[in-house]
Amino acid sequence: MDERVLAGRSIVAGSVIGRLVTFGPGSHEVFRVALEADQIGAEVERLRAAVGDTAKELRRTRRQVAEIAGERLAAIFDAQELLLEDPDLQSRVENRIQDERVNAEWALEETLRALLERFADLPSEHLRQRADDLRDVGRALQRALAGNASQTVERLRTGEPIVVLAHDLTPSEAIRLSRAGVVGFGLEVGGQTSHTAIIARSLDLPLVAGLSPENVAVPEAAVAIIDGDRGVVVLDPKPATRRRYERSRRRSSRHAARDLADAGLAAATRDGTVVRLMANIDLPDELPDLGRYGAQGIGLYRSEFHFIECSPDLPSEEEQLAVITRLLAAAAPHPVVVRTFDLGGRKLAQEVIATQENNPVLGLRGIRLTLQRPDIFRSQVRAILRAAVHGGLRVLLPMVTVVEEIARFRELVAECAAELAAEGLPFRADLELGSMIEVPAAALIADRIARHVEFLSLGTNDLVQYSMAVDRGNEHVAYLYRPFHPAILRMVRFAVDAARAASVDLLVCGEVAADPRATALLLGLGLRCFSMTPRAIPVIKQRIRSLATDAAAAAAEACLEVESAAEVEEILAAAGLLEGARTS
Ligand code: PEP
Ligand code: MG
Repeated sequence: MDERVLAGRSIVAGSVIGRLVTFGPGSHEVFRVALEADQIGAEVERLRAAVGDTAKELRRTRRQVAEIAGERLAAIFDAQELLLEDPDLQSRVENRIQDERVNAEWALEETLRALLERFADLPSEHLRQRADDLRDVGRALQRALAGNASQTVERLRTGEPIVVLAHDLTPSEAIRLSRAGVVGFGLEVGGQTSHTAIIARSLDLPLVAGLSPENVAVPEAAVAIIDGDRGVVVLDPKPATRRRYERSRRRSSRHAARDLADAGLAAATRDGTVVRLMANIDLPDELPDLGRYGAQGIGLYRSEFHFIECSPDLPSEEEQLAVITRLLAAAAPHPVVVRTFDLGGRKLAQEVIATQENNPVLGLRGIRLTLQRPDIFRSQVRAILRAAVHGGLRVLLPMVTVVEEIARFRELVAECAAELAAEGLPFRADLELGSMIEVPAAALIADRIARHVEFLSLGTNDLVQYSMAVDRGNEHVAYLYRPFHPAILRMVRFAVDAARAASVDLLVCGEVAADPRATALLLGLGLRCFSMTPRAIPVIKQRIRSLATDAAAAAAEACLEVESAAEVEEILAAAGLLEGARTS
């Protein structure tokens, strides 16, 4: 195969090479894997064995249905068995495995799709029923393949790196795939601050988005490079291209070594303004990065990813207690901010929300969902209160829109404290409580919210989404996702003033905190505590050490007065405050 370069956009930097796995547009269970010539015989045998197993399964079901519902209904399964054993269907799938050198699941899916397309055009009711039978047989065969040395991603875990191309992935799929040896992603959709991008960044998995649908749909390649630095995917790279990527990988590991050497330096501007740099932690796997990159505590622990990882089971109180205790130990002597579950939106565990929402991002998300479902939330609150005895724990509420949400949370804390006291378990209820400022309504009453909490945390990812009316993950409106828009800057400034007047802490934990182009602006607006993915800390620290507070403040003042994000960038560039940026 010739080398091909697919153009996209860089979302998570870094480059990786691996065996290519492609997910089809609909189901994420059936995917394409290119086979070596010597694997084809075994794959055909695997298909034949699955046909045999499915036939047995159909006969068993037929017997049960005959006993319960009579012969007339049971006859359906005779028709299905005939379809299954139709030599024409089987040879089509086998030919595809051989001709296209692909796994049985993919060959079956593609064969069925082509056949069903023909059925769709036919008017007869009888033939439409046959199409339903064919779909059923296809599903049964896929199940048999899955239970039969299947090439599911988990089973590809051979130590060989895998890269995935897909239309889209949810954050939980990204976590699952990374556990199965996937080292990089190429997607059609996804923005810089989508939760899938955040997870990929946490797991250090390069990600390219914005690939065209034709490119994602089954490229016939065996190996691919995900180049998150240039925002491209290279299919079947030539040996010279592979060597070039190897060299750039060695260069970035030298950068990493330099970053580590910086871990002990202070994050202070040239004129001595000290900035606290904390870590955003999504998964406990990242804890070793705290010390490695010199984080001064955990500024945001996104607890919902623990929930999603345990799904469909709920994490128990003891499990949650163990995780929080681990965070506290890893961050000591620095503090840890545990954010309560921010489920909903795209971080949706179906098990939690039974209702289907038309617009989940504006629906039951964050504190709204958890207050509605104390049955789930209570174990988290209890785990937090119990972990608090170790000290250094602060609690943060996501998606706060009205102050009543804070009051209701305090009531829940009081109830859980009473329970724990009755049970004789050690706990602390005098929690330092914080509110996310990530909804415009909250930003505009930050001064009022500050009266009810001990700290505020600016979630710029959502603040931009909700203020600009732009879905964080929507490719088509990504051009409008502008954290530098003066509307956002004004809200940030308002929150800074509110926190100062109320003498409460304020930190910024959106992705903008990790963007070296934004450091001067945030500093100039008065922010003194940034929380970000730990790997970004050295770059931001270098940036802070190169800046002077007065110049940053003067530029920020000017930025508050202009009309557009483009003008903000012009001001910063003219003041030399957009320079020196190295993307993380
Ligand atoms: C934010 O919205 O900026 C934030 C930090 O929260 P999340 O990215 O988890 O929505
Ligand atoms: Mg948020």
